Amino acid sequence: MRHRVGALQCLRILMCVGAGRYFGLQGLPFAIPIAQKRLPKDTAWEDDVVLFLDCDDCLYQNNWTTAEKLTDSIAAYTARLGVSKEEAFALYEEHGTALKGLLAEGILDENGAEVYLQDVHAIDLSDITPDPQLARLVGRLRKRPWIFTASTEEHVRRCIRRLKLSSKDLAGIIDTRLCRLETKHHPSSFNVAMQRAGVARPEHCLLCDDSLKNIRAAKRMGWRAVLVGYLSRGDGSPVQCEEADFHIGSIHELPEVMPELWN
Ligand SMILES: [Mg+2]
Repeated sequence: MRHRVGALQCLRILMCVGAGRYFGLQGLPFAIPIAQKRLPKDTAWEDDVVLFLDCDDCLYQNNWTTAEKLTDSIAAYTARLGVSKEEAFALYEEHGTALKGLLAEGILDENGAEVYLQDVHAIDLSDITPDPQLARLVGRLRKRPWIFTASTEEHVRRCIRRLKLSSKDLAGIIDTRLCRLETKHHPSSFNVAMQRAGVARPEHCLLCDDSLKNIRAAKRMGWRAVLVGYLSRGDGSPVQCEEADFHIGSIHELPEVMPELWN
């Protein structure tokens, strides 16, 4: 059930995107509903819903500062392997992640992949700052959420410490190792997440993520999905995703579209 985007709303979006570009913000300090949809009321689903939160650029947003550091770290590592930035990007394009490409090409073996994961994630995270509002939101959820990430568990734990979230408020972390280094948007990763969380029915799963690929994959799997962030990393252009059930600027706005997740 999609609301048409009227002229007034278009104007609001344009104003917000302009402000976002000016201030360099991924999520703006107020909600703009872009093609926002209301889900049908489903009491059974509300009781059984399991929330999966992406980590980077979703649980926190810092204008992709940490993402840039991660990208640089990957480029530095692949350069040490004799793979240029362009070649690493080509591997990413072909295989979904640079690591999968390095494994497929025989540049890294399983042990090498582990060293790679530890090395590339050893970045400075000082740009992630405490988020008391998020800590309160997560602490009041009816059910503890899972973190579902394409990175590593220890990277998520470092981010959580920076945000000052209590790990006791989280059900657990599904990371790339658990997904056998498969891309997050691969169906097998969603199956691992459901298995780990003990969910049998995909319609009981809800993913919040900033990645269009992941949102689309979640919908193909039968999950519910909330896209987080209004602007794209590359050029700050507005992001739209027809498949998403909701689109919010930051994870702080989740209670506005999914109030049933809280008591
Ligand atoms: Mg992300």
